[in-house]
Amino acid sequence: MEVEHGIVGLRDWTLARAVEPAVRVGIFLDGDAAAAVHLTPVRGPAVLGSPGGPDVVIEPGTEIEVRHARPALSLRISGQAARTVPSLRLHAAPVADDLRVSKPGDCEAGILLRDVPAGRGFHWEKRVSQILPGTLELSVGRHGVVLVNVLPLETYLAGVITAEMSAACPLEFLKAQAIVARSWLLAMTEPKHRGEPFDRCNDDCCQRYQGIGGLTATALAAVHDTRGVVLLSPAERRDGSEPEAGGRADQSEPEAPARAKDEGIEGSRDQEACSQLEARAPSEPEARGRANGARRGDTHRSCSILDANYSKCCGGVTETPWAVWGLDKPGIRPVVDAPPDAPDRRFFPVSDANLEEYLDGAWLARTQVYCSPNVVAPDSLSRYLGRVDTVGDYFRWAVRYTRAELEELLRVNLTDAAGLTELRDIHVRARGASGRAYAVQIDWLDAQGQPVRSRLDGEYRIRQALHRTFLYSSAFAVRPERDPGGRLSAIVLRGAGWGHGVGMCQIGALGMALSGQSSEAICSHYYAAAKLGGVYT
Ligand SMILES: [Zn+2]
Ligand SMILES: [Zn+2]
Repeated sequence: MEVEHGIVGLRDWTLARAVEPAVRVGIFLDGDAAAAVHLTPVRGPAVLGSPGGPDVVIEPGTEIEVRHARPALSLRISGQAARTVPSLRLHAAPVADDLRVSKPGDCEAGILLRDVPAGRGFHWEKRVSQILPGTLELSVGRHGVVLVNVLPLETYLAGVITAEMSAACPLEFLKAQAIVARSWLLAMTEPKHRGEPFDRCNDDCCQRYQGIGGLTATALAAVHDTRGVVLLSPAERRDGSEPEAGGRADQSEPEAPARAKDEGIEGSRDQEACSQLEARAPSEPEARGRANGARRGDTHRSCSILDANYSKCCGGVTETPWAVWGLDKPGIRPVVDAPPDAPDRRFFPVSDANLEEYLDGAWLARTQVYCSPNVVAPDSLSRYLGRVDTVGDYFRWAVRYTRAELEELLRVNLTDAAGLTELRDIHVRARGASGRAYAVQIDWLDAQGQPVRSRLDGEYRIRQALHRTFLYSSAFAVRPERDPGGRLSAIVLRGAGWGHGVGMCQIGALGMALSGQSSEAICSHYYAAAKLGGVYT
């Protein structure tokens, strides 16, 4: 588990390197404004180092306090006098060599960290304790202590798959989650956190990672069995001619939605001959995928690692990348999240014409949709969700606002609506294949009684603006309630799903695994155009 000196970092990694990279994960970010961080080595000693000072062995159970004392850090070990250091490194002594030989207990040596933020800005935000392996780097931020965990990618993935969902999930689900999370990370197409001292943060903004405290033998097996295996997307279509139905083709409004996130999304950085990858000895699961004939039909002149997005619950149909981020991704197309012969397929694509039936029809009592309560029983879900999630009715949900509540929300959340005196109506102007809105129109009156029209563009922005924290999804119908005079009195948003809906539906993948389907079948269902390949051994 030790991060060797000279190992390839994620930002320098390419397909040609063919080695497991090290990942830098932001645990306490500058924006968290941590005044102090408390660390304790558990199950083994740790080595503490600071610039110009000798390395010190810290015994397990010792309390280390690091305070923000800009321009330096203030370090106090086990109640001793504090001293000032510019930065710190704390390295957990590895008990096991690597994940290939680890039992769960072996992996629990690390540094215990308390009050780590999780779910920043979402309705489930909370603070959790974590055990982190590898090396912790602590530095001085403008607002607080910045803490970065440096560790091998496969160890990081073991922490991701047990944080995104729980380690109690079936093996085949965890294997699919490992492949998808590995692909998304290695693709590195979203330049998040550029200029910060880490590659990815530990939260839903990137991928949830909460250390190795929750590992089980099943979770370790899921990472081990899929080591180095990723989804490879077919050659890029430079002409943008995606043949499948999608947000763009189906919508009446052809203009691009605003970018859901502040940063742009670059093209995939690795464009290499697929033959190189296929010539490499495949890992065992890859060989199985090949034997099954899964995604092995076409020979592509070039390919890249799929930027494999995923989200919690699609609601019945997955979404196009275009409707969420305003771009196509060659390996990701919307799918109905149900068996090939299910009648539920008639809801593709979800549109204004079938939305009411999709949200509330009698079909829901018999649906075979993988993420529905018929497949994943609600009373079992708390076992399978990550520990920061709260179990809710997110397959179908409703939020009701009085007009006054919504007006207050919009005055705060809409930059151009500070003068809003009366809300008149809300209309969805454009939807993607899963019914997720990406353009919303808001009609209101200003102080002079003049009608004003505001527009919310982008799935992320819509979810942010129409909720105190964050709406489960933008796949909703607007149901206005009016008084006898026709004035708006309240609005109910009736919705489906949780998350942006692009790529693998995590609850749906869980449903597939609980129904006995393999990780290869799960990957093939959500990323039909992609294929599996090993990029390092
Ligand atoms: Zn992030
Ligand atoms: Zn789903």
